[in-house]
Amino acid sequence: MNAVPELSTFDRLEQATATEVLQWGLEKFGNSLAIATAFQAEGMVILDIAARISPSVRVFTLDTGRLPNQTYDMMEMVRARYGVTVETVSPDAAEVEAMVARHGPNLFYGTVPLRNLCCEIRKVRPLERKLGELEAWVTGLRREQHESRSEVRKVAASRGKVKISPLADWSTEQVQAYVREHDVPMHPLYEAGYRSIGCAPCTRAVQPGEDDRAGRWWWELDSSKECGIHFTPEGKAERKLDVLLSEVLEARRA
Ligand code: SF4
Repeated sequence: MNAVPELSTFDRLEQATATEVLQWGLEKFGNSLAIATAFQAEGMVILDIAARISPSVRVFTLDTGRLPNQTYDMMEMVRARYGVTVETVSPDAAEVEAMVARHGPNLFYGTVPLRNLCCEIRKVRPLERKLGELEAWVTGLRREQHESRSEVRKVAASRGKVKISPLADWSTEQVQAYVREHDVPMHPLYEAGYRSIGCAPCTRAVQPGEDDRAGRWWWELDSSKECGIHFTPEGKAERKLDVLLSEVLEARRA
């Protein structure tokens, strides 16, 4: 495995375009790089750009087991349009069973720590397993999406890997313009008023004036609106998650 590149390279890439950033990543990491996507607009734009550079680019998605059916339709669409294999990453079935047995299937509506636990088991731990086989991963993060994302860099070290966010400085309008210009397939839920799309029970359409992530975990009024993949819970929230997770993992081992 290559060592993580020098920070000066990361700084230089801050000035690069999305295409240049992806070109750099694909050349440097080849098959050890994969695009992580939930088939939202940003992930689709990245896939479209990357497939023009390297048609065999790797793509993976986290199949939490609670995705809306329209996301599976997008998976089919992507396979047909780009000819790529979509690598699906599932949670550990025994961990899900232990969590559901202890807290019920819809635990996320209970408290923020329980929601964090569900995201940890269905998203974060599967992602970590996937990253074990990669040197670099590409995400659709944009600084404009939410205040928690305002300092996202185009290339950064994260979880011991290189995390590439080529659209970090793109506006919503730039994403939409690219989609129109290149006729990129769009997730059908955008038509229903969604602006950020995740698991079915945790995502709703947004109202005019709300920010892009207002429809995620909409019942939480003061949470970070993040699932732990990009920004881990801190302080008290992290400690509560640690306790809940260790209880589930203990039950799984029993
Ligand atoms: Fe669970 Fe909701 Fe997180 Fe999906 S978004 S992993 S259903 S809490």
